[in-house]
This record gives sequence, C-alpha cells and structure tokens, in this order.
Amino acid sequence: MFSSARLIRSDLNMARVEMIYGLDIGGTKIEIAVYDERYELQASWRVDTPVDSYNTFLDTIVEMVVEADGRSKKVGTVGLGIPGYKGLDGRLVCSNIPCVNGKYLKQDLSQRLGRDVVIENDVMAFVYSESNGGVADGHENVLGVILGTGMSGALCINGHVYHGRQNVAGEYGHVGLSGALLQRYDFPKRACGCGSFGCVEKYLSGPGLLWMSSHFGAEYESVIDLVRGYQQKERCAVVVFNAYLDCLGSYLSELTKMFDPHVIVLGGGISNIGEIYDAIPSIMAKYVLVNTSPPKVVAAMYGDSSGVRGAAILGQGVYATEQPYSRVRA
Ligand SMILES: [Zn+2]
Repeated sequence: MFSSARLIRSDLNMARVEMIYGLDIGGTKIEIAVYDERYELQASWRVDTPVDSYNTFLDTIVEMVVEADGRSKKVGTVGLGIPGYKGLDGRLVCSNIPCVNGKYLKQDLSQRLGRDVVIENDVMAFVYSESNGGVADGHENVLGVILGTGMSGALCINGHVYHGRQNVAGEYGHVGLSGALLQRYDFPKRACGCGSFGCVEKYLSGPGLLWMSSHFGAEYESVIDLVRGYQQKERCAVVVFNAYLDCLGSYLSELTKMFDPHVIVLGGGISNIGEIYDAIPSIMAKYVLVNTSPPKVVAAMYGDSSGVRGAAILGQGVYATEQPYSRVRA
C-alpha cells in the first residue's frame, strides 16, 4: 500500500539524506515539520491524533511521511517526539495516548516505513533542539523546563540528551514545592495525578498559576488576564504573580543545586511571559548556595516548534556520519 516509502536503510544512505522530517506526537494533534538540509522549514501540517486504534495511529503517521516524501520527491529521515518513554522491556509508556501505550512503536513504524525511525521523549527533543542551534547552543550543561499545562524537563550535556538509567531523567515537575514556601503562602499540599502531594506542577504550571490566583482570592479566568493585570499593576494580580515568581525562582534554584547547569531554557505557554526573565535572576540569587550565582534563564529560541525540530535532528542522526547539526553550522 505504501510501497513508495519502502526503501531499506542502505538505499536511504545511497540516496543521501536531503529531507528531514520531525513529528510531534501530542495527545490531540500530530504535527509534521519538513526541513531541508539546512534546517529551513519547507512545510508543516497537523492532523488529529488517533488515540483508540493502534493500527489507525500507525497508518496516520505513515500517510504523513509518505505525503512528505511525495511533496518533496525525496525520502526523508524520520524522528518522533512523544510524551512518554521507553520502558525497561522496550515498550513505550505513554499514558496520554492509550493506543500506543505498551507498544513497540519504534520497531513497528520502522518496519512500515522501511527506514529506521528515532523516537524520543518530547521534552528531551525540546532541550536537544535548544542545545543544537538553539538559544543554548554551545553551552555545556543545559537544563530545559517546560511550564505549560503540565510541567516537565530534560537535561542536555555537551549537546547530548541525558536519559538516565531508565529514560526518565527530568521528571522534575513531580518534586515537592519547598515547605518554606507552602508555609509562607499558606498553600495546601495539593494532590497530584502522580499519586503524591505538593508537587511543583500543581503550583507552577499554567493551571497551577490559575489555582494560585483563586487561592489569593483573585478572579482571573486565564493566565493572559492575570499577566495583563500584573502589567497594569492591579493589586491582586501583583500579589499572585509575585508569589508565583518567588516559587518559580526557588524551584529553579533547587534545580541549580542539583544540576548546576550553565543555562536554563524555559518552554511552554508560561515561558512567553517576558516579565519572568526580568524578575527571576534577583529572586534566584536569594535561594542559591552562598558564594554561587544563578545560571542564565532564557526563553526557547524555537518556541513551540522546538520539540518537532529536535525530533527531526535526532531522526537525521541515524543516517549521519557525524553529529547531524554540525553540518548545518559548518
Ligand atoms: Zn506529581
């Protein structure tokens, strides 16, 4: 059915890699981005994510890749970013997309597409992108923190993703907010979906910030409204957002004590709030160890596209004879 895509790996090497595809697999949408050899974006489109049927899920990705091949008249490399990780038995753990949970997705997709595909955790792909040609390019230790509907993170060391022993390094949305802050702001230890209580995700994610707003008696229905109120110096918004910045600064300082990164890159919707970058250095300076300084905290260069871009670079790496992105930078 998809015979046009059925090239074996050696064919792909002989044909030279000329197109590079990244796919960002979300719980509701799948996005494909098509890059040329210089990582100039040529095309991108999105479809709904099939969540119930694994066969439909595989067919959908194959159709997107075959369409990309057809449009460019090339056979591209394929990298996927997905909100999950490879478990100890090699199966994917992905609670957001039930039909791929427990599957050997890499093997099944590689077989159907006739080419090796790379599958990476989406946040690891994000920080990989920012460490390779992004805002943190050239930095030795790069910590990525996503502040969105949820919270997660990842670490890149010398341009390489640090996976840890079980591929789950960076799940630091599920560590506790400091007891001193819980006490200072009279926050309850909120129950978290991970089974624990008081996780930072419950305070520092987008929904966490809105919860904080209601905790202080402010009636903001969206983060955008709250930030607008803060910019207009509305008293309620200033109280809420200053508390948020205090908690964020404390948390990033805790991460600094653990990892001592050269730079922290923020992603996700909250990372678009410019006021964070003005305020956070002096707040962090209060919380880091004596006679040390906080690292730079910066917004991602590629924003929402960084995950798909990182997946694309990782996918290209299967066929590259050298570090993929170095060819672009040379
Ligand atoms: Zn949790």
